[in-house]
Amino acid sequence: MNMPDMTVFAETESNVRGYCRSWPTVFTTASGSWLQDESGREYLDFFAGAGALNYGHNNPVLKQALLDYIASDGITHGLDMSTTAKRDLLETLRTKLFAPRGLDYKVQFPGPTGANAVEAALKLARKVTGRTEILNFTNAFHGMTLGALSVTGNAAKRAGAGVPLQHATSMPYDGYLSDDDDDSFRWMERVLDDTSSGLDRPAAVIVETVQGEGGVNLASAQWLRQLSDLCAAREILLIVDDVQMGCGRTGPFFSFEVAGITPDIVTLSKSIGGYGLPMALVLFKPELDVWAPGEHNGTFRGNNPSFVTARVALEHYWSDFTLEAATLEKGDRVQSALTTIASNFDGMSTRGRGLVQGLVFDDASLAAKVCKTAFERGLLLETAGPEDEVVKLLPPLTITNAELDHGLEILSGSMDSVCAGRGC
Ligand SMILES: *Cc1c(COP(=O)(O)O)cnc(C)c1O
Repeated sequence: MNMPDMTVFAETESNVRGYCRSWPTVFTTASGSWLQDESGREYLDFFAGAGALNYGHNNPVLKQALLDYIASDGITHGLDMSTTAKRDLLETLRTKLFAPRGLDYKVQFPGPTGANAVEAALKLARKVTGRTEILNFTNAFHGMTLGALSVTGNAAKRAGAGVPLQHATSMPYDGYLSDDDDDSFRWMERVLDDTSSGLDRPAAVIVETVQGEGGVNLASAQWLRQLSDLCAAREILLIVDDVQMGCGRTGPFFSFEVAGITPDIVTLSKSIGGYGLPMALVLFKPELDVWAPGEHNGTFRGNNPSFVTARVALEHYWSDFTLEAATLEKGDRVQSALTTIASNFDGMSTRGRGLVQGLVFDDASLAAKVCKTAFERGLLLETAGPEDEVVKLLPPLTITNAELDHGLEILSGSMDSVCAGRGC
């Protein structure tokens, strides 16, 4: 096999580059759940653009709609001008997403990244309440801009800010202190209600229902309901950051549906554009719409080609419960395979919901080794968690059972190879 020519990346691209180090090859094309590199080698994708490719690479249904739109000279760049593409999308959001779920949300188009949606959500919560403080959770990840970093847990990412990250207080996430009681929740309740706790009354709580980057940590439905009640009783806004877990990753379109709660504010990005095109949304209850015109703006709020693929994805995949049911079924399939793998080795466990699943190692160094070996065998997987101790499985939701089984076999073989003779 020829070694790929990586020279220009090493010489010219900043040291900040990351994924190309884990996967040292040069990719050319992709289709469905597969990528190809320039030597013609194929890689099965258990990464899915970190959750931006829930419907797979170059999904044919979305691709055709995109090609037709471009061929017809549809608006590409629209700021926040009204366009037919945006009108169709807003109507589809109402009919396919909100109405069937009994939701009544206003829709804000921020700049097209998750971090931008989070920044807008934090600003809005502060403006609505007139308060400054935000509560976030241990191991949270909300993006790399300053406001988003201030509510993110990871020390290395926070350090990159270069300025103090203020006006946020970290609370224990579900299961942070122990697996089998609700101490973590009681702490939050207590410090909020004790006027001598030293905690200023917050504007909002921002939470992921499953922490993807943080290590596939799950908040139970009950914990989420308690959190929602706690916020409502104290007039604190609840922001669910559904940038990674939304768009069906855990089964239902919104990850919070499992708890039957209605967050005040919801952020979406990653797979909302459907095709892997940049797009983000902030959804909020109508009474929170206190923005002045243009108060939060951005040049790339109107990426109309993503409005087209977003709409077609909603129409095609979210007009019924087929995808949701299939995701839950495939999630069970992955979970049972991982449980078998974990039971063959010491110091391992599994956790996940829908098609975000984690294989957790007591010996953190093994997770990266397993991912490296899996790559050499044609499977893309990344690690997550504070010590990168979790192998995180995030396949496209459109993956077939045969492809899932194939990837799981590579993973199992990689485990055997990494752990042979180590007693893990
Ligand atoms: C990826 C992610 C973000 C940040 O999105 P970007 O598009 O990278 O800015 C925010 N929140 C969560 C939960 C994410 O997974």
